[in-house]
Amino acid sequence: MRKDVRILLVGEPKVGKTSLIMSLVSEEFPDEVPPRAEEITIPADVTPERVPTHIVDYSEAEQSDEQLFQEISKANVICIVYAVNNKKSIERVTSHWIPLIADRTDKDSRVPLILVGNKSDLVEHSSMDTILPIMNQYSEIETCVECSAKTLKNISELFYYAQKAVLHPTGPLYCPEEKEMKAACVKALTRIFKVSDMDNDGLLSDLELNFFQRTCFNTPLAPQALEDVKNVVRRNMADGVQDNGLTLKGFHFLHTLFIQRGRHETTWTVLRRFGYDDDLELTQEYLFPPLKIPPDCTTELNHNAYLFLQSVFDKHDKDRDCALSPDELKDLFSVFPYMPWGPDVNNTVCTNEQGWITYQGYLSQWTLTTYLDVQRCLEYLGYLGYPILCEQESQAAALTVTRNKRIDLQKKQTQRNVFLCNVFGARGSGKSGFLQGFLGRNLMRQKIRHEHKSYYAISTAYVYGQEKYLLLHEVLPDTDFLSETDLSCDVVCLLYDVSNPRSFEFCARLYKNHFMDSRTPCLLVGAKADLPEVRQQYSLSPLDFCRKHKLPAPQRFTCNTAEAPSRDIYTKLTTKAMYPLRPCLDELGAFLLADQESSLTQQVHPVVHVEESIYMESSVDPFVSRHVTQAEMKSSTFWLRASLGATVFAVFGFAVYKALLKHR
Ligand code: GDP
Ligand code: MG
Repeated sequence: MRKDVRILLVGEPKVGKTSLIMSLVSEEFPDEVPPRAEEITIPADVTPERVPTHIVDYSEAEQSDEQLFQEISKANVICIVYAVNNKKSIERVTSHWIPLIADRTDKDSRVPLILVGNKSDLVEHSSMDTILPIMNQYSEIETCVECSAKTLKNISELFYYAQKAVLHPTGPLYCPEEKEMKAACVKALTRIFKVSDMDNDGLLSDLELNFFQRTCFNTPLAPQALEDVKNVVRRNMADGVQDNGLTLKGFHFLHTLFIQRGRHETTWTVLRRFGYDDDLELTQEYLFPPLKIPPDCTTELNHNAYLFLQSVFDKHDKDRDCALSPDELKDLFSVFPYMPWGPDVNNTVCTNEQGWITYQGYLSQWTLTTYLDVQRCLEYLGYLGYPILCEQESQAAALTVTRNKRIDLQKKQTQRNVFLCNVFGARGSGKSGFLQGFLGRNLMRQKIRHEHKSYYAISTAYVYGQEKYLLLHEVLPDTDFLSETDLSCDVVCLLYDVSNPRSFEFCARLYKNHFMDSRTPCLLVGAKADLPEVRQQYSLSPLDFCRKHKLPAPQRFTCNTAEAPSRDIYTKLTTKAMYPLRPCLDELGAFLLADQESSLTQQVHPVVHVEESIYMESSVDPFVSRHVTQAEMKSSTFWLRASLGATVFAVFGFAVYKALLKHR
């Protein structure tokens, strides 16, 4: 929202511009006024919308045309004042003032206009009959109002409407010609509806409406008000309410109604609460809240974030098969402006037999995004409405920034849950097969189209009964140059092909050049172990090389298996990553349980369990009290207003709203 508002008053001499300003300021009619009032600034806390407001007078006698033009271009809203008892001053509105202002402003960024009929104390009849056709003709006229500087009638209203025209413009929301909301507004409200429809049944239930109400307006909702709202919708359309819940169509209808009744600040409050700016784009502040990540720290999702993501998964896994079909995935991301996950994701995380991303795979991909690109993670959580649904300040509340790795090393323990393993190996040594093997895919299941290839694979491994994420990253062997990011990771996997005599040399050389003196643990892996092993063309055999450099003996791996490839190697890598200073388990004589999964005692996140959904939690513990001081107008409830709006239109008699008029 804007930080201040600049209101300019123009019009023929003697219509009462200066008197209006003086009346507002002193709350009494001044018998004598100067030709032009000095610019005044009303402090934020005494205006209804809580923004500093500048009011600028104009006097033909005192100002040149050039000065007038300058003021027009600086103004956020212009009040064209006429006197209701002066026909000529009304005629000049269209013959002079509107064209003059149009000439001075950009076609795209027209300032809103307000027609002000002053001196209403002098006449019996209203000037509205003359004014309404003018309003219909010019879409830039936001509203009109009749007032009197002398009796103070509608003076504060006039300035309130001027303020509102700037802060809650109708332009982006509504098209008066079509008498309907603009596409961008419909799109934003559709997203808001989907985010608020927590069980994804296409309806906002009483529970969901209550939550929505509380989120947007910070006030609880009376059951009767809720009924009244639904009745308003029922009366106006057949399919706005279904099974006692508000449909998307009904939701759109309500907002159209607000806007048509001049209550567009209600719609704006909703839009802004969900992160939208005046152009109906999500703001950068909403999508990218500040988050400080010191060096040598990583980013992970915390428990609450996993609970939230689980609830999002549950919401979209309609057939409850614990995997997302292409349609379910599309639906899940329908609150995004673009599809964030391409087909490569299916080759990065675990999928089911149909190749659909499983619950595990889904959480893994989120973990990967959080680890590799935390800004993207914040953005995505923003699209899902995380701060709103979880009642958090921002998406930053979903993240844990781990402590510096050096401290982990000093203390010989870590609280991290995600570990990065860079996989190196000569071309054709079996790196991709190694990555895919981690996703439980044997050679038969690894038919990947080139454009869908992923250089990452992420899944969980159990170390001493704890579930941890291991993120494998395949580093391209082509470049001689390795960047800092290629080299920095928690554990290194050096892969060679046991059947190719020239493949070990690559690993040996890489180790000597980059890792011999580093503290990063390394593991040598002999891939394609199902094939006959050949002698490597290198001065030392792999085993001797490991002995010489005090490395664990080379591990054998194959993904050419009937079932899923063995997980031992991945568990070993994770263990090495967690405890870089401990000797490898083999050397201790300890053996990894073949099926560690069955002995787990601790999990990163809970299994899919619909009843545990976060939304149910929030219904058990409903009120998180907030201390938000808001202008009086805002604190009345959204839904109550909607129901009032249907009957109480007469109250707004002082201002005739264009939109409604056009509707007739
Ligand atoms: P400006 O030239 O547009 O700034 O007009 P002024 O504020 O100087 O007012 C012109 C004359 O109209 C003055 O004599 C005012 O006292 C008178 N006037 C202004 N507002 C009203 C009003 O609401 N009712 C009546 N009866 N007279 C008004
Ligand atoms: Mg004046």
